[in-house]
Amino acid sequence: MDALIDSYQRVITYLRVSITDRCNLRCVYCMPEEGLAWTPTHEILTYDELTRIIAIAAKRGLQKVRVTGGEPLVRTGVVGFVNTLTHIPGLKEVALTTNGVFLKDLAAGLYQAGLRRVNVSLDSLNRETFSKIVRRDIFDRVWEGIKEAERVGFDPIKINVVLQRGVNDHEVIDFVRLTTERPYHIRFIEYMPCANWDTWLETYKPFTPVMEEIQAAFGEMVPVSLSNADNAGPAVNYRLPGAPGVVGFIHAVSHDFCDTCNRIRLTADGKMRPCLFSDIAVDFREVIRSGCADECIDDLLSQVLYIKPKYHELDAIPKEKKLVTMVNIGG
Ligand code: SAM
Ligand code: SF4
Repeated sequence: MDALIDSYQRVITYLRVSITDRCNLRCVYCMPEEGLAWTPTHEILTYDELTRIIAIAAKRGLQKVRVTGGEPLVRTGVVGFVNTLTHIPGLKEVALTTNGVFLKDLAAGLYQAGLRRVNVSLDSLNRETFSKIVRRDIFDRVWEGIKEAERVGFDPIKINVVLQRGVNDHEVIDFVRLTTERPYHIRFIEYMPCANWDTWLETYKPFTPVMEEIQAAFGEMVPVSLSNADNAGPAVNYRLPGAPGVVGFIHAVSHDFCDTCNRIRLTADGKMRPCLFSDIAVDFREVIRSGCADECIDDLLSQVLYIKPKYHELDAIPKEKKLVTMVNIGG
């Protein structure tokens, strides 16, 4: 089978799979507080359907899968699914991004299922600020989840922090200090225009002043390259001298890494999207449910490669259309 190479000679090695659009939190930058209509269960790909697509992609050189959502840990059977993924021949890495609410209960099972990489979203170290961001009073449970993940052996634990001006940007120094105490990878993520355009304009926080603030407080950070850099994606990583943890920056908005983009995304209802910032997608669900042979799925993968745009063209998209529905696509 041919490798997953797109029209611009980029080799696709990384698939982000959203296994549900449902979530038990309502983060301000991701979802409205209410009025969400979840996709009916029969429209969501089954684990068998997902596994089949991923196994075929792995034969063509897919190396890494990240399980995401919505909140992946709310879907029943997620541990068994992760176990299946970690046994797919050719797949080198399985990762999962979670809001951590069910991590305390599931961390041990996920580790036993072969998962080694977990990203937990934690936008504040302060209980009240966190409650305002996720619209739930749940800080302690997420923090216990992180501790449990550390206890059962996840290393490194990556903590995703979407930075918002006036919301949590006063905690940058606290997060960086945490990397001097714990072996966590703190990953500051630029706020992308998703749930609300006005909020984005008000609270988007560029990284340049963040870097300056860190430097003023701690001195120069040392650039680090991580061992799985090929599949790691767009984070730029640093370490404070002697610190066990890492500080990363994900230029989700201001990036210029399209020319090395190695990723595609599968939505919970079976649409494969070659670019986060574009609506174009290939529907796998109808084909897979029509009793197709593996060759048809292989053809669909080739279509995804064919339509993957060269650049995201975020600047050219009208603002109403820029609002990516992160919960459907999984970040
Ligand atoms: N529910 C899980 C979680 O929150 O970790 C997984 C799905 S969530 C959509 C995946 C990642 O996207 C999270 O780290 C979240 O913080 C991030 N995200 C969501 N909306 C975002 C936005 N508007 N800008 C930047 N990152 C965002
Ligand atoms: Fe849920 Fe994750 Fe979106 Fe927050 S970022 S609302 S936890 S899907």
